[in-house]
Amino acid sequence: YQGKRGAEDIVVFAGGTVGHPHQWLKVQAELRHALERDELVLWYQPKVGLPGAEINGVEALVRWQHPERGLLPPGEFLPAAEHSGLIAPLTEWVLRRALDDQAGWIATGQDWTLSVNISARNLESTGFVGFVGALLAATGARPDRLILEVTETALAGDVETAMRAIKELGTLGVGISVDDFGTGYTSLSHLRGLPITEIKIDRAFVADVDRDPQSQAIVRSVIDLAHGLGSRVTAEGVETLEIHRWLVEAGCDEGQGWLYGRPVPWPQVAAKVIVEPSSAPLTERAAR
Ligand code: C2E
Ligand code: MG
Ligand code: MG
Ligand code: MG
Repeated sequence: YQGKRGAEDIVVFAGGTVGHPHQWLKVQAELRHALERDELVLWYQPKVGLPGAEINGVEALVRWQHPERGLLPPGEFLPAAEHSGLIAPLTEWVLRRALDDQAGWIATGQDWTLSVNISARNLESTGFVGFVGALLAATGARPDRLILEVTETALAGDVETAMRAIKELGTLGVGISVDDFGTGYTSLSHLRGLPITEIKIDRAFVADVDRDPQSQAIVRSVIDLAHGLGSRVTAEGVETLEIHRWLVEAGCDEGQGWLYGRPVPWPQVAAKVIVEPSSAPLTERAAR
């Protein structure tokens, strides 16, 4: 399947994001090779339950092991992929690899969920939902252990198509998470009728939530909104114990952030996290 966007978008996008259009096109050509040469890697960040900070799952975060430029964060190449046909094969690669890694921890008896970020462009592609369904069937992965994260801005483009795709993904039995909530321009009415299982509060509101009354008001109302819609709510970017305590007090379900664990390559998650009793209290784990 192909993304809907064409060459016009490439030009519009090039100026703002990566700088010079020629450089941007270079990234695109190199990324095509990267996919062929298997230069992408997945890192994983834990997602913990509150208040105990036990690990409930991990989120896959893509990186590019560039032959000359070193390890590149997704912000360096995702925009180029999204505005070309490359986001389809990239997402397919991420989903395949992540489900493969997940099969590894399922085999050790771990019940963690796997969260995978998908792009708004994926939702606009015919065939994407079919791909996910076929992949689940082929790998035997449990749909209820897979969470697809869609940023709020996915609902700002071709809303009708995106909403239809999200509903279809929901019927496959996978979780649907609204990522970076609060930073986009989604009309709340778009949330209605969607099979949303999780809302992730953007780091921007979490960073000072232990000190700033306005952030506190926003975070409290997103927690209320999520619970009212019957979804779980996760705070992103939890960096301090003070923020952790505030979130527990406010009734937030889950947290993610450097306090609990930074993204690391899969072998490190396997070595460190599986061995560590995930039910140990946060303070005890932090002290080790
Ligand atoms: P996201 O999904 O909101 O992921 C959270 C980002 O915040 C990650 O950055 C993570 O490393 C970072 N982070 C986590 N905890 C903390 C913290 O406590 N403090 C701070 N300062 N940062 C924290 P990363 O890995 O650079 O990813 C950036 C974005 O790229 C992601 O944001 C997601 O939207 C996108 N992305 C990553 N992997 C994929 C992928 O495989 N496919 C797609 N379509 N998008 C991806
Ligand atoms: Mg995410
Ligand atoms: Mg996020
Ligand atoms: Mg974010």
